[in-house]
Amino acid sequence: MLLLLPAIASAAAPRANQDFLLVGAPTDQQAPVRECTPEIRRHLQEELHIAAPPGGWSGAPQAVDVFNVFAGEVMITHGDRTVCGHMQDARTRDSRFRAGVGMVVVPRKGDTAPIRVAWEAPLKAQWIPTVRLGAPSPVQQIDTARLLVRTACIAIALALALSALMGFITTRSRDFLVYVLVCALLVVWQAVLSGLSGYPEPWLPVGRAAPVWLVAVTALSYAVMTWVLWRMCGGRRLLRGSRRWMGALVAVFALVALATPVMPRGLLAWVSGALDDAFALLCLGALLLCIASMRRGVYKTLDGMVAVAPLLLMTLADLFGNRWLLEFRVEAVQLSATWFLMMAAYSLNRSLGNLRQQRDEMRQLADTDTLTGLPNRRAGLRQLETYIAQARAGGQPLAIGFLDVDLFKQINDRYGHDVGDDVLVSVANTLLSGVRSRHDVIRMGGEEFLILLPGNSAAAALPRLEHMREKVTSQASALRHEGLTVTASIGLAELQLLDTDVAALLRRADNAMYRAKRRGRNQVVDADDEREAA
Ligand code: GH3
Ligand code: MG
Ligand code: MG
Repeated sequence: MLLLLPAIASAAAPRANQDFLLVGAPTDQQAPVRECTPEIRRHLQEELHIAAPPGGWSGAPQAVDVFNVFAGEVMITHGDRTVCGHMQDARTRDSRFRAGVGMVVVPRKGDTAPIRVAWEAPLKAQWIPTVRLGAPSPVQQIDTARLLVRTACIAIALALALSALMGFITTRSRDFLVYVLVCALLVVWQAVLSGLSGYPEPWLPVGRAAPVWLVAVTALSYAVMTWVLWRMCGGRRLLRGSRRWMGALVAVFALVALATPVMPRGLLAWVSGALDDAFALLCLGALLLCIASMRRGVYKTLDGMVAVAPLLLMTLADLFGNRWLLEFRVEAVQLSATWFLMMAAYSLNRSLGNLRQQRDEMRQLADTDTLTGLPNRRAGLRQLETYIAQARAGGQPLAIGFLDVDLFKQINDRYGHDVGDDVLVSVANTLLSGVRSRHDVIRMGGEEFLILLPGNSAAAALPRLEHMREKVTSQASALRHEGLTVTASIGLAELQLLDTDVAALLRRADNAMYRAKRRGRNQVVDADDEREAA
């Protein structure tokens, strides 16, 4: 592959005598123009006349860009020039205007003919069409900036969906899958709202059915956003029976979405406004729910508050008829939706992180002996199994010591259970100081401990266990209880070929320990010595 690189580079590089690259060829095709057919003209209702300044036009080019006509036709006329278009047909619109329907006209100096802009009645009362007029360059710059924001929001939603999909593949958590669906829905919603569903080629069959698409996808998006907010704001815990209510609400939104294709335009406009109002109220409800949850000490619902804040701000700005919101409504809606998705992703990842942490803590608890903090029998046997497999694979020796505190019952009887506990903790610490890893000393139960010595033969393990046994006695004397002496008997066993499993090795060590007891306690006995002795 590396050898191919120079060949590829020389093929791709311009030849020495060529200092430019010409791409494309002359064409005889006309740019596609959308005819302003009588059918289109029939739908146009509202009209704006931009009158020439006193004394007529100066002769400078004028750009007219029409935004926020979400679901319908736009016609711009000056003299005998006419341009028609709607948001979802990027192919046939003037390519200098992408976020709106625009035209550049060059009126003759002194000409007094007005520029006329006509559009269909807006779908919603508060989504009023915006017309920007000015020199071509700044008007086009604003149009491009709008396009960038719109595209970026969709790209972010897609990226979040992709990373959630990967999250689902690795964790198999259904929550990730639901999140992917939410992202996908909001991508479609934004695409229809911004007209990007037709850019650069139509990738959704929206066309003239834009009002239906817009209302249907809005209803579905509001449904899933309400559901996500309800979860983020702790609705499941705080409101009893709210799960059923949420189900009903989502079903109503879904039914509205399903009914949109048969709704007349007037009803669509009403439903669209009603959906916005209902969602604004639901967002307010979510905010109150978050506050109530936080008052009960559930601070993670702050995520929900932060997520819903831009949506509520938008509602507030609407109430006061904010000019910026009127002009940049699509961008505001898209940015709010993106913000919402990001907060939902944060909340989802955090709750999954918490779950993982809880699971780790529970696993840790299940594997740990509470008195000594050592691994318990269950964890110990697992560790021993690993060591046996490693020893077999690497041809390394492995020795284990089975320790039982001598006459421990008498210690309990004479000094009390608490002192008995102190002795067990002291023994545990003494043994820990003699091994490499915390996993190598295990409390098997009661006053019995298992010591794992990977890499040690019986011959190497014997002096180490002898040393531990002596230390158990000397350390216990530090407990300063009159007459208290602690001794221990240890059975030593080295892994042999005939030890078919963990139990066989343990059994031999256990037997050796009992042999030590029989021989008078306070000593280490090697299982193989015992066999020789037997
Ligand atoms: P031997 O030398 O033959 O092993 O005699 P022993 O007294 O040590 O053996 P035995 O099995 O009769 O007694 C073990 C005692 O350990 C009985 C039980 O009450 C006590 N024990 C088990 N777990 C604990 C514990 O967590 N704390 C305390 N204080 N005592 C425990
Ligand atoms: Mg015992
Ligand atoms: Mg004992």
